[in-house]
Amino acid sequence: VANLQSFTAWIEDYARVVSEQADYLTDLDRAIGDADHGSNMKRGMTKAAQLATDEEFTSVDAYLKKVGMSLVSNVGGASGPLYGTFFLRMAGAFAGVEEAGVAEIGQGLRAGVEGIVARGKAETGDKTMYDAWAPALEAFDAATASGDLAAALTAAAEAAATGRDATQDLVARKGRASYLGERSRGHIDPGATSSTMLLESAARTLA
Ligand code: ADP
Ligand code: MG
Ligand code: MG
Repeated sequence: VANLQSFTAWIEDYARVVSEQADYLTDLDRAIGDADHGSNMKRGMTKAAQLATDEEFTSVDAYLKKVGMSLVSNVGGASGPLYGTFFLRMAGAFAGVEEAGVAEIGQGLRAGVEGIVARGKAETGDKTMYDAWAPALEAFDAATASGDLAAALTAAAEAAATGRDATQDLVARKGRASYLGERSRGHIDPGATSSTMLLESAARTLA
């Protein structure tokens, strides 16, 4: 099961990953956007990871809520509100939950992704982060019957990676990349890439 310490480790691990991969994420965004996704994520997640050092949290939902608020206020552009909403909605799913097993994590991820969709209105195939999240949720749910959180998170991360890779052949219909029309084809979506990293990080830290 995942507890407050696991969620803190998740945020810290993800902050490290997006910082290490900031140039790569920005390069992806240079091809079909405005070359800031890596710096956006690095700045936002570094601030979010600092929260647990600055303040003593006593519940998972209070912690994730602060993470979400921090992302909304420190990351401009599309991804700040989208990732911020993800964590705020996930926090809502963890009200009163201090030990999250496979069922609770599944509900938390689903609530978070519903927040991304409510905010960004993306559909499958629009070449956004949702193209990583949608197959990830499906794979997670398919694996929940085993009751094995590690297996479900690993399956979700693998499905996200497949969804991320499939964004290469898509034409963007949402976000900045959509301004390029046909020219957005042939490039992997930056947000689908950072979302896959978030799930890979979850598989390392939450199980
Ligand atoms: P910006 O495009 O404002 O510079 P970022 O570069 O940080 O913001 O993030 C871009 C990513 O945001 C895209 O790669 C895409 O995955 C995601 N994105 C953009 N618009 C949407 C949307 N409406 N729904 C879901 N994801 C979106
Ligand atoms: Mg950008
Ligand atoms: Mg931008």
